[in-house]
Amino acid sequence: METAVETEPADESDAPPVGKLATRVAQRIEESVIRSGWPVGDSLGSETELREQFGVSRSVLREAIRLIEHHQVGRMRRGPGGGLFVCAPDAQPATRAMVIYLEYVGTTAADLLEARLLLEPIAAGLAADLISEEGIATLRTALDQERAHLREPVNRMRDPVHTLLGQLSGNPLLHLFIDVLARLTARYAYVSPSISAVDVDVATNVSHDAHRDITQAVIDGDGARAQVALAAHLESVAAWITQQRPEIRATADDTTDDEPKIKLAEVLAGRIHDDIAADGWRVGTVLGSENELVSRYGISRAVLREAVRLLEYHSVARMRRGPGGGLVVAEPEPQASIDAMALLLEYQGVTADDFQIVRGAIELGIVTRVAARSAGDEAERLAAAVRWPTEGPPDEPRKADLFHTELAAVAGNPVLSLFLSIVIELFRRHAAGHDRPLPGDRAADEVEQAHGRILEAIRRGDVGVARHRMRHHLDALLPWWH
Ligand SMILES: [Zn+2]
Ligand SMILES: [Zn+2]
Repeated sequence: METAVETEPADESDAPPVGKLATRVAQRIEESVIRSGWPVGDSLGSETELREQFGVSRSVLREAIRLIEHHQVGRMRRGPGGGLFVCAPDAQPATRAMVIYLEYVGTTAADLLEARLLLEPIAAGLAADLISEEGIATLRTALDQERAHLREPVNRMRDPVHTLLGQLSGNPLLHLFIDVLARLTARYAYVSPSISAVDVDVATNVSHDAHRDITQAVIDGDGARAQVALAAHLESVAAWITQQRPEIRATADDTTDDEPKIKLAEVLAGRIHDDIAADGWRVGTVLGSENELVSRYGISRAVLREAVRLLEYHSVARMRRGPGGGLVVAEPEPQASIDAMALLLEYQGVTADDFQIVRGAIELGIVTRVAARSAGDEAERLAAAVRWPTEGPPDEPRKADLFHTELAAVAGNPVLSLFLSIVIELFRRHAAGHDRPLPGDRAADEVEQAHGRILEAIRRGDVGVARHRMRHHLDALLPWWH
């Protein structure tokens, strides 16, 4: 593998390593897909053509293609007439990877609730504005189904009405994030055996009544009432979760895959994931060899291999070959899923409005949390992030984001940090794919000043002014999207 890097024509001593180069090639191919309007089914060229086009070695191109496949932008077809073909991304794998990552970093019920309270009422308000007869029918069907299955344990706390409101908001960002939040809540809220059946029935019925009220407000087109009802419902869900031990258990996922081997592999991957989580997620632990796992879980080798593929995709565990090898617990790494999410959202056609609503909600939530605490030590860390970095190319887009990502880190809610990273990545990818220049060094003074003013209000603990300045700053960024 390493020899291929050495034969790289551009490989001077200071040339980027194979991974960096592959990332750049993948990004350029992905930009070209965005630029040409995401033509699903079109060929992007054969392996040889792509190698010539980008002037890279076979190993670099293969790594780039692996990334593009992971991001679900393209798929490689082998054989005659083969090549890299544009495909339509599927939300499922990236959504699951987000859930796994958030669970791994130790998201609390309070973090989840904070994020849900920031985003879900907005979705309910938008759904009420946009509601159609078709939407009314969908909401009513969901409620009827919920009522019909109230006593089935699998459906408890799944809350499909929430994801549906995300969908009916017409905002792909809200839909995706609310889906992640609902799935994560379901994992935390799984009813532990120590809770009595009567308590569970009461909670389930209370939730159902709340869903009916929220739905009615949406159908009435009363956004304000829908928002208030939803916020109250979320508070009571939070109370219910904190009552219990935050026992992490998988819920059966309703995948519609009709391929039995895939389905079995998903169940197995879920079990292995749960076992890793139950054991405290000790990175580097060898779970066992292929033979040991086959006998431990009582499955076929083919199912195990498919499950391992899923675990590797989500960065939960990796199969290490050779002596002393086996399935090893890995550290979930969010960047691949952040890229995949950002590209999926770009494919779904996020508008400037969609973007601004969600970025605003997340950033205002973050700034409120930090300003309300007005923490002294953390202000120093933020002061360092206010300065525009002098190293790196002038148009390096991440320079402008440092203050925002640091602010999110200080706020300390992993859900909001992750969502902000996705939103920022989407902004960057959207601008690059539409040949829009991003705020470069030319804007450095202006941006530094805006960040400094936000920090100044945070230091004084003035939540209102900090929020106002953040809102103003985000409005000024919007022209770069168009
Ligand atoms: Zn609910
Ligand atoms: Zn900024």
